[in-house]
Amino acid sequence: MIDRLSPARETSYGNAGVINSGSMIPINSPGIHKSLFSLLQNNKPQLRYNLAFAIKKLPWIVQFLQASKSSNTVATTKALSSLSSTCLTEHKALMQRVGNAHRLTEAGWLKVFRSGQGYDPSSFEAQQLEKYNIPIQKFNADELRELEPSLKPIYSAAYLLSDAATVNNPGELLAEYAEQFVKDGGKIEKMEINSIDVEGENIKCRSDAGVHACEKLVIAAGPWSSDLLNMLNYTVPLNVERGYHAHFHLLNNATLGRSIHDVQGGFVMGPMEMGLRVTTGVELNYRDAENNLQQLEQVIPSVKQAIDIGERTDDPVWRGNRPTLPDSMPVIGQAPDHNNVWMAFGHNHIGLMTGPITGRLLAEQISGETSDVDLTPFTPKRYVRSGRRRKPIWKK
Ligand SMILES: Cc1cc2nc3c(=O)[nH]c(=O)nc-3n(C[C@H](O)[C@H](O)[C@H](O)COP(=O)(O)OP(=O)(O)OC[C@H]3O[C@@H](n4cnc5c(N)ncnc54)[C@H](O)[C@@H]3O)c2cc1C
Repeated sequence: MIDRLSPARETSYGNAGVINSGSMIPINSPGIHKSLFSLLQNNKPQLRYNLAFAIKKLPWIVQFLQASKSSNTVATTKALSSLSSTCLTEHKALMQRVGNAHRLTEAGWLKVFRSGQGYDPSSFEAQQLEKYNIPIQKFNADELRELEPSLKPIYSAAYLLSDAATVNNPGELLAEYAEQFVKDGGKIEKMEINSIDVEGENIKCRSDAGVHACEKLVIAAGPWSSDLLNMLNYTVPLNVERGYHAHFHLLNNATLGRSIHDVQGGFVMGPMEMGLRVTTGVELNYRDAENNLQQLEQVIPSVKQAIDIGERTDDPVWRGNRPTLPDSMPVIGQAPDHNNVWMAFGHNHIGLMTGPITGRLLAEQISGETSDVDLTPFTPKRYVRSGRRRKPIWKK
């Protein structure tokens, strides 16, 4: 494994830590149209965008919205459920092997609503949850207070995806998986790849520090995968949905039993080893642009309405880049023009939970084993095109 940083220091480091078999419905589902006008005002915690970036990425945005047609989303949900349905089982098997199951809390994933009934059985989401037998428990305001006594009485309804779980430190969980990989005989090299040459069966990954030669290569570099694909003369419409986290001290012995999505408040909060982690919605902006803390600052008063928090902990504000393709499905499979190169990226909002199953399916494909999951919907051929080799930015 080659990484320019230690394992799990980028997007996989700071996410909300939710592992949920019911997370197979993409955010570009039919319901997105109802909120589109409101989101376009660019002042909501659920979505902020940089206008110049949005204009530049308009073709991508149009493709993303086209994918939200009901017929498309039904197919996407089916494909994603083949990854999400076993995501907790796959993680638990790894945790058992590594000895870090103490990081997992199996208490569900709670969605809370400040007004209204919460669960809408006529919604596309509800219909899909029912179709895939995802267990739901509904709560009124009083029942919610029993379930989460530290929440302030501002919520009118909630529902729990009861089969879901959360981890108390995604970055450490994955660093421990990586340690196990080394114990099992794997090798981790810290180097930043800046060019890749494939000559027949020989592959050379080059960095300023030297060359790593190999016979098979998997490109799984999350939001940077497009840069690595460029090195092989491929292009791919990979975009990023940026998101932030901050940690807060809880006051007055407040605790939460699980991660909570305040749907109308537009944030997620969950108990982590380092305090209460608050994560934000989506920011559409250039991957490497400076942080824009407006979304985070906007939700902090809403978090204070929900639970007793004090100051931020000493941990810095963190930003990650959810790697997203227009159809909200990852690419998993062999490169179009190279039979010794594979790809696994684009896991957008569900990459922590679907990482282990992705790894297993890809390993099976590489070694020619039969898989219990049909990888056709994830084929790189959907989006990966051979094209003019662009010079990496550092060579310009
Ligand atoms: C706010 C937020 C909340 C989220 N919550 C959840 C959640 O609750 N559950 C869930 O399942 N998912 C969640 N996600 C999504 C999840 O975090 C991502 O889908 C996942 O982390 C993507 O993993 P990755 O390995 O593809 O990318 P990354 O974790 O970003 O890894 C990419 C790696 O490539 C390396 N790299 C890049 N370029 C090079 C190079 N040139 N040479 C060598 N190495 C290179 C980087 O150093 C990095 O380690 C969330 C994301 C965000 C931002």
